[in-house]
Amino acid sequence: MRVLHTSFECYPLAKVGGLGDVVGSLPKYLNQLGCTADVVIPYHDTNHNKEQHHKTIFSGIVHLGNVNYNFSVKILQSTELLGFQVFLVDIPKLLHRSNVYGYSDDTERFVSFQLAILEWLLSYDQKPDIIHCHDHHTGLLPFLVSQAYKYKELSNIPTVLTIHNAQYQGQFSYEKLNYLPEFDIQHIGLLDWDKCINPLAAGIKCAWKVNTVSPGYMKELQNQANGLEGLLAHENNKCVGILNGIDHSIWNPETDPMVIKNYTIDTLISGRAANKEWICTRFNLDVKKPLFAFIGRMVYEKGADLLPDIARIALEHNDINILILGSGNPEVETQLLQLKDFFHGRYNTFIGYDEKLSHIIYAGADFLLMPSRVEPCGLNQMYALRYGLIPIVRKIGGLKDTIIDIKDGGFGICHENATIQEVCDAITRGVALYADQKYYKEIQKKIMKIDNSWNTSAKKYLEEYEFLNQLK
Ligand code: ADP
Repeated sequence: MRVLHTSFECYPLAKVGGLGDVVGSLPKYLNQLGCTADVVIPYHDTNHNKEQHHKTIFSGIVHLGNVNYNFSVKILQSTELLGFQVFLVDIPKLLHRSNVYGYSDDTERFVSFQLAILEWLLSYDQKPDIIHCHDHHTGLLPFLVSQAYKYKELSNIPTVLTIHNAQYQGQFSYEKLNYLPEFDIQHIGLLDWDKCINPLAAGIKCAWKVNTVSPGYMKELQNQANGLEGLLAHENNKCVGILNGIDHSIWNPETDPMVIKNYTIDTLISGRAANKEWICTRFNLDVKKPLFAFIGRMVYEKGADLLPDIARIALEHNDINILILGSGNPEVETQLLQLKDFFHGRYNTFIGYDEKLSHIIYAGADFLLMPSRVEPCGLNQMYALRYGLIPIVRKIGGLKDTIIDIKDGGFGICHENATIQEVCDAITRGVALYADQKYYKEIQKKIMKIDNSWNTSAKKYLEEYEFLNQLK
């Protein structure tokens, strides 16, 4: 069984959030199950890419309306560490950028990437049995494969679409319809949602199978999916929720090269203390007080706009430290930075993306805050468990599927709503738990034993692939 994962992100080559982590780990676990899972992503202009050796295996041209773009497909040499083969679509004029997203020509970048993949596959002698698309950036592939005359030869390859986040759908206007190769115009409705070309909606309509990254999120999308709830309810029969896993070889406190001191369940107290010490020195925090941390994109879905008030109120009422790592909404960033003036020695924030720092925080903070309004799966809470960091989460989507409250015999602190009051109350519960060091350490040991690796979920994907392969 040969599966081609198509994505805009893949850790460690390109990562903005959870999508990168998933595409950088699921294929490895699929390969361990005997599948041949490969990944194709854009050749982004990142430092990581520049350091790698590649070999060009295909050259072609994509036509976006009247404009032609030369492209090549490169294969990454030395992929032993990754555990899967990576193909890189190189379209210098559109994809050679230092950031993964955020450009005015993102539509052109996403469409050209998908067209280049199909041009390459037409002549590739090891065609996949399944094309697995991730999010709207590759959501047009199921439509193109099934509808475009040019790619008829690929039309019996089953397509799977994984929705990592339904908030982002990649809509663009019909003025750009000429970017797509010819198809039966009577089927134009397959592209449409709300009078736009909507790649995520098109993917949901045309993919043979659609899944979300947790069962809880699948249910929630039937009622709230940024306008696509009716479509998802309609396509319910081919939809399933499969919980994301984490890569236990990368996210392993015993071997993680990014943390200050490695540790196991048996050495967690000294190991975590060394990491906390480093964080507190670096960010001028008080190592004796419990440390509550947030790591993530500062966007509305993550509840980031609540953080300034949460931090201020929680710091006024509790003898704690708070550290925030992330970037996003500039207003929230400014408010978080301003708070530094009021809580010297107990509060800090690092605006930006820093993979190494995130690992150290998982290894050294005492509680992780996730006040999300929407959480398709959430990986942070699973990394936290693996590292012995107690998560404080809002009961939503994948957070609800993975964290059980201590009150219910579980191992985390949960709150119903993403409100300032409820998060502050949850922090107060955390302070009480931390004061009972014996119980607190028991919980830490308990969470480090939880297996959220891909072992279970990769098998579920494989079952879906095998089922679809029989339908061909
Ligand atoms: P999402 O994909 O919605 O952003 P996930 O919880 O699925 O959220 O995945 C987030 C991933 O991105 C985790 O690996 C987290 O550690 C990482 N991350 C988010 N923001 C930052 C940041 N500012 N610096 C380092 N890592 C970050």
